[in-house]
Amino acid sequence: MPPFRPQPLIRPLVEALHPYVPGEQPKVKGLIKLNTNENPYPPSPRVLAAIKTAVDGRLRLYPNPTAQSLREKLAELHRCRPENIIVGNGSDELLALAVRCFVEPARPGQRRSRSLVQYFAPSYSLYPVLADAHGAEPNPVPLRPDFGLPATAALNRAVGWESQASLTFLTTPNAPSGRGYSNAELEALGRVTKGILILDEAYVEFSAQNALALALKYPHVLVARTFSKAYSLCFQRIGYFIGPPRLILALNKIRDSYNVNGLGQVAALGTLDDLEYYRANFRRIIATRQKLSRQLAELGFEVLPSQTNFILARPPKFPAKAWLEKLRQRKILVRWFNQDCVRDYLRITVGTAREADALVAAARTIAR
Ligand code: PMP
Repeated sequence: MPPFRPQPLIRPLVEALHPYVPGEQPKVKGLIKLNTNENPYPPSPRVLAAIKTAVDGRLRLYPNPTAQSLREKLAELHRCRPENIIVGNGSDELLALAVRCFVEPARPGQRRSRSLVQYFAPSYSLYPVLADAHGAEPNPVPLRPDFGLPATAALNRAVGWESQASLTFLTTPNAPSGRGYSNAELEALGRVTKGILILDEAYVEFSAQNALALALKYPHVLVARTFSKAYSLCFQRIGYFIGPPRLILALNKIRDSYNVNGLGQVAALGTLDDLEYYRANFRRIIATRQKLSRQLAELGFEVLPSQTNFILARPPKFPAKAWLEKLRQRKILVRWFNQDCVRDYLRITVGTAREADALVAAARTIAR
């Protein structure tokens, strides 16, 4: 009898893949959780009521396959047409869909740029995972040491930029630095980008500006938005892209028929009916961000200016990793990335004013 030799069951590409590592979601009582940029305030009471009302026998039915009502309402908000919008199971789903839609897996003999997933580094660590999972080639382009965008004149071989890359992701405002970019900079970048440019605006509601106009002006620009952060809806998984109908149509061709669950659609619609509630929360979070930044700076932290609901800060006295542990012992969870240009920093989500006060009090005793 010949020996039993099973064929490989899993694609070598998948066997070798390093998956995305999400922030911890520990269930520790009394923990102050400032590690995953969730909104510290709950969804509006109207949203909670809308979800509860929707939970009945209708759960047996499929939801609207194109999130039609939600797209119509979003189109009204953003002064565009429903054809400019695709909704996803979180913006993560759409980022993955974009890689599958616009990027060729690497093949011998094919132009390298066709299989490039380009992004600025540091930024969202999901982008290289999406490239790897697709058999495409990740192409990180370093940001300047202050996390600014390289000037378009400097975007050349020296920094590894490829203007023909099929897809370029730009997180704006940037994560994990919190730095915002002006529309003039983004537009200049768009002009030298020949492939698709996705402006990932996951945190834009906490910023003074947004780049929506660029997605409605250029044939190759998409803006990614999410209900997760600003609209306290991580749990429901709703994100969307805005952009040229031609690109939206292409993405729709490869989207799962019922990619957006029904309760998520209900929750997002309810959110858009109560925007004033959320705008008040943005103002509170921004005020807390300013105060927290000032107080940490007084304790010797180097705090980078932030346009988001988190700050990146270089702590004094001990290495950032030691601070992570010391804060954890005090039941405060922040995020530390073991990556070259951010290893010396902590990323701290802006929580409620009370949570920020607790963080500052803990930091004061640690730094003493
Ligand atoms: N983009 C960036 C930059 C993010 O930080 C996140 C959240 N981790 C997302 C997109 C995805 O958000 P969601 O899938 O919850 O919409």
